Amino acid sequence: MYHIMIHDSIGSGRGHRFEGSCNDQRCRTTDARETCEAVPRRTVMTESDAADITHLRRCVELAREAVETGNRPFGSVLVSGAGEILKEDHNRTGSGDPTAHPELALARWAALNLSKAERAAATIYTSGEHCPMCAAAHGWCGIGRAVFATSTPQLIAWLEEFGAPPLPYKPVTMRELLPHVEIVGPFEAFAAEIKAMHERVHRR
Ligand code: ZN
Repeated sequence: MYHIMIHDSIGSGRGHRFEGSCNDQRCRTTDARETCEAVPRRTVMTESDAADITHLRRCVELAREAVETGNRPFGSVLVSGAGEILKEDHNRTGSGDPTAHPELALARWAALNLSKAERAAATIYTSGEHCPMCAAAHGWCGIGRAVFATSTPQLIAWLEEFGAPPLPYKPVTMRELLPHVEIVGPFEAFAAEIKAMHERVHRR
């Protein structure tokens, strides 16, 4: 059921807008200006969908904390298979370490503190899709699922719009890098808020 989550973006009308990536086989959109008519929009939100939104909301709060303490706007939460929040973190690159990403910190914490089965049942939620470094760590540490509010293609478009330096690596999405991990996102409902945080950071 997670495969069609991005077709549930808030709004009215048929189908969904292309949000950078969609793993529904029926989806044919390849461009942000197109609307997918192939995949129907769901109208009922399941309990699991609601939990995902709640955890992503917390990730956005953590991203805001990160910005307020001189870091980049990324926040992440590690959640157990039973739905319990195990660990939270936000970006700490303001320290001078450009690899101080929360998704990497949480994957490492999981490797050191959870069993293999617990990691496989766990989810890392994050405000912005994992970079390839963090996605690789997610794979190495055997975390079963990832849910992100905004995607790497969205971030790239925003950086370009703000005249910010491009990402220092060839962008690879999580779905490309981790085809065996369940990946959910992006969620259009969070895009404007997260974009505004990136704008604030890159124009300061
Ligand atoms: Zn990263």
